Amino acid sequence: MPDLEVIIGLEVHAQMSTKTKMFCGCDNDAFGKAPNTTVCPICMGHPGTLPAVNATAIEKAIKASLAINCSINLSNHFDRKHYFYPDLPMGFQISQYDFPLSSNGSVTYDIFDASGNIEESKVCGITRLHMENDAGKLTHKGSTTLCDYNRAGTPLMEIVTEPDLRSADEAVAFAQELRRILIAVQASEADMFKGMMRFDASISLREKGTEKLNPRSEIKNLNSFKSLERALQYEEKRLRKHWDEDGGPLKGDITVGWLDDDGRTKMLRDKETADDYRYFPEPDIPPLEFEKSYIEELRAGMPTLPRELKEKYINLGLDEKQALQLIDQSTLQIMFEAIRAKTDAKRASSMVLTQLLGFLNAAEKEVAEGPDADAMLELVDKIDDGTISSNAGKDVLQKMVETGKNASTIIKEEGMQQISDDSAIESMVDAAIAANPKAVEDYKGGNEKALAAIVGFVMRESKGQADPVVVNKILRSKI
Ligand SMILES: [Zn+2]
Repeated sequence: MPDLEVIIGLEVHAQMSTKTKMFCGCDNDAFGKAPNTTVCPICMGHPGTLPAVNATAIEKAIKASLAINCSINLSNHFDRKHYFYPDLPMGFQISQYDFPLSSNGSVTYDIFDASGNIEESKVCGITRLHMENDAGKLTHKGSTTLCDYNRAGTPLMEIVTEPDLRSADEAVAFAQELRRILIAVQASEADMFKGMMRFDASISLREKGTEKLNPRSEIKNLNSFKSLERALQYEEKRLRKHWDEDGGPLKGDITVGWLDDDGRTKMLRDKETADDYRYFPEPDIPPLEFEKSYIEELRAGMPTLPRELKEKYINLGLDEKQALQLIDQSTLQIMFEAIRAKTDAKRASSMVLTQLLGFLNAAEKEVAEGPDADAMLELVDKIDDGTISSNAGKDVLQKMVETGKNASTIIKEEGMQQISDDSAIESMVDAAIAANPKAVEDYKGGNEKALAAIVGFVMRESKGQADPVVVNKILRSKI
């Protein structure tokens, strides 16, 4: 058996986050809506209707292109891609073929070791990014097929990579970084659960040291990172076995489907070629011509990209894993930034990434079910103005997570206000001195540590409500 290497390339479909569809005014948020309620004569391809390009979709696709270092093709156009299937009401898909929106880009991504530190940074080339509209959804029930065209006409970006990925792990790490980038530039929400990001993965083997690409197996329509990983691992094993038995690579390209429940791929067809689709320029939409100044304007307005953001967080003292937690969950990021602006990064990361995430985990709750940034800031205020101690703050946060109530309600209901009133503390200190004669003697004999034991006694008796600074001060004045 020769020494083989795995060659992987991805086609990524990402739904653009626009209000309306690619070529009509229908609602672009079809998720959870009753079938065929977000459709109109244009996206249903009725005769005599004309598509009109969604300018926001183009702007988002350009921003995504710039974020993955692609060159924008100032002149490009839409093409008709023909195939006959009931999910396609127009009888063709409007896509881009020989003149895509952008091409020749790259994405740098990190491979992590088991403890979450960067093992290696790699670069995956991007062949092209083009725009197209989505098809409808078919549901097969026995011998009946139901068509829902709500998704038909949804604006998509298709991002095609070079065959630069060398393992399932690399493919997943790349896809996760790409998702972060698309979210950062607000080109796509890339919500995997809602099917907003899907992958077709091509995989082939070749002998190490050779350059030629062998025929590949294309795995269609993978809709999660987990299925991307599993399908590639399975197909790699299958291709290695095939090589072993057949003495070489596949004889021609094939297309397979991934059966998630069975954990295996299934042969669908020989791979179709561009000729099969009879591409020709879309006659109903004028070619797109961009001014250079328009592209530069968009470039100037680009937000901070995830890699830069990660660097910033690491410089603030966070580790890799914590930085990614903030980048991947905007709710946590907003919270962290709000607390950091008020106090400092160390405290913000302790409250958000250690305490809050720990309590959410323990309560088996999602970030969205926990307190928001305003609720966290209220808690910070209660600690900083002395209403509660920072130790009690942890208990309050835990109850905020468990009950959904805000900090002031919990403090009031549980009677957790810190006691800073001198006369109240004075009587507690008197009681503590009377109850701990040995510690008092030890302290007087020069043992500083004995004082901490007496302070601890007061804190316990007051159920943590006494202000330890005031307790210390009064205690020292008394003995
Ligand atoms: Zn429509």
